[in-house]
Amino acid sequence: MRFASRLNLLLALLAFGLALTLSVVAARVTDRAVEDRARDRLRREIDLLADEIGPRLGDPAGLVDVVRRASRLLGVRVTVIRADGRVLDDSDVALSEVAGMENHAGRPEVVAARATGYGTSVRHSATLETDLLYVARALGPDRSRAPVLRLAISQSELRRVEAHYEWLLRGAIFAACALLVAVAGVAVARLARPIREVTDAALAVARGDLAREAPERGPAEILDLSSALSRMKSSLLESVERVERERRLADAVFETLPDGVVVIDAHYRVIDANRGFRGMTATSDPAGKPLVEILRDRALFAPFEEAIARRVSTDAILRRENDVTWQLAVRPLPPGSRAAAVGILRDVTAFERNEAMRRRFVADVSHELRTPVASIAAAAETLGDTGADDPEAPRLVELVRRQAQRMRELIDDLTDLSLIESGQVVLTHEKIDLRALAGEISEELRATARERDVSIRIEGSDGVTVEGDRRRLGQILRNLLDNAVKFSPAGGSVRIRIDRRDGKPALAVEDDGPGIPLAEQDRIFQRFYQVDRSRSKVRPGTGLGLAIVKHLTQLHGAEVTVASQPGRGSAFRVTFRREAAETEG
Ligand code: ADP
Repeated sequence: MRFASRLNLLLALLAFGLALTLSVVAARVTDRAVEDRARDRLRREIDLLADEIGPRLGDPAGLVDVVRRASRLLGVRVTVIRADGRVLDDSDVALSEVAGMENHAGRPEVVAARATGYGTSVRHSATLETDLLYVARALGPDRSRAPVLRLAISQSELRRVEAHYEWLLRGAIFAACALLVAVAGVAVARLARPIREVTDAALAVARGDLAREAPERGPAEILDLSSALSRMKSSLLESVERVERERRLADAVFETLPDGVVVIDAHYRVIDANRGFRGMTATSDPAGKPLVEILRDRALFAPFEEAIARRVSTDAILRRENDVTWQLAVRPLPPGSRAAAVGILRDVTAFERNEAMRRRFVADVSHELRTPVASIAAAAETLGDTGADDPEAPRLVELVRRQAQRMRELIDDLTDLSLIESGQVVLTHEKIDLRALAGEISEELRATARERDVSIRIEGSDGVTVEGDRRRLGQILRNLLDNAVKFSPAGGSVRIRIDRRDGKPALAVEDDGPGIPLAEQDRIFQRFYQVDRSRSKVRPGTGLGLAIVKHLTQLHGAEVTVASQPGRGSAFRVTFRREAAETEG
């Protein structure tokens, strides 16, 4: 039952109780009032009648006449009692029976009248068998020996008069109480309405309707309650916003992680998966789906099974088609939530490729060093056995010198390459005239070229300039020119061509050497790649020259390309993005 209804019921019960009590009290009060009035009336009437009766005490017939008449006129019982208590007459008793009436000397009102002049009592009349109100008065100054006049009125007579008023009074009391209940009911309803409004607002907030305002009317207590609700709502709103912000942040981090992340429940169903996972598994909406359906690969699914079944962390490397490699880590989650495990899928293809390259690189370097080291060791051993007087000694010393030179070149190239690859080479910027540069570098190599009977020519336009690092551009040209001279047949010619194509400055190194098969033209720029290893016996090299050329041209924003046909020579071309600005130089 609601508070307001309960309050109404309580008020109604209280009002009913009050009405009952009041009506009982009212009945008593009216009883007393009626009795008092009756007593007063009887006192006045007895005084009047005493004057009439006194003179007739010696005249029995006259006395009876007055007694009976007065009784009729006043509507009361009139009794005259002698000093000795014998009844002289009684209006309510037949004349013939008066003589036989009981002695009245001991009646309390009679005794009181003799003692004080007047006496009253309310008691049951043995003669009339009813409750009566008696008022008695001694007739004469010597009260103790005087006769007594007594008037009496029946209680039921009094009640009859009083009953009418009593009912009126009761009616008024009940009407007043009913009115009280009605007024209280209205007041309770008025009080209950704002309470109900606050309750409704609180319930709406509890349902999540945080826009709902608490009512701003009603008594002070309700206003206090409303403002407490408002404060609670705003702190709730703040908490919700904070939680929402944190959830958005967590979502954003989860979603943008470069790895694929999937959270699954104990039944291997996906709870959530981020963009990385969706992309790697090519599923648009994996939530709620069985994981096995999404992975479609036993090897991928097994680590999840093991992690959940045995509650252990599992890791796996998985080789996929197209040389793609995935690394999978599955971690069981602590119990207490729907999520049972989280799987992190990482594409480690590039890493694996780098690892393979690193391994190959170490193997290549070891391989490249093994030949000169073995040659030096063998020469040193022979020299140690035979001594410096051996006719072979000069040749062996020359071999040691050459192999040591080859090792130094290899180490220099490796150091250079690693510096370039790790981004430690910082270029200087100056205006370089390509033709002048070609002149300098060709001069450096002219002696070697002459030894091989190869001519070097510089062709093309004058005044072609680029912006770049003089030493590094020289290194590019030297490596290309060195290869061209090295691979040219005796009597051959090498051309350094400087020109512009589509407004872009370029330098090319052309030779009449053996050329490079099309299939290998891309690979010659890789570290240690040599087209025909047997060639390097005749023309030693490190296999790093073109790799360095490629990196250095890239650092200059330029591009190196090769055009070649086996047996018809090769042309390496470095094309720059633009010429150096006019103002410089
Ligand atoms: P190397 O030290 O062996 O010359 P490079 O990186 O400079 O190493 O060249 C890689 C390989 O490319 C050479 O071993 C050779 O097989 C091929 N190559 C380079 N330049 C030429 C060229 N001008 N003519 C023919 N083959 C060439």
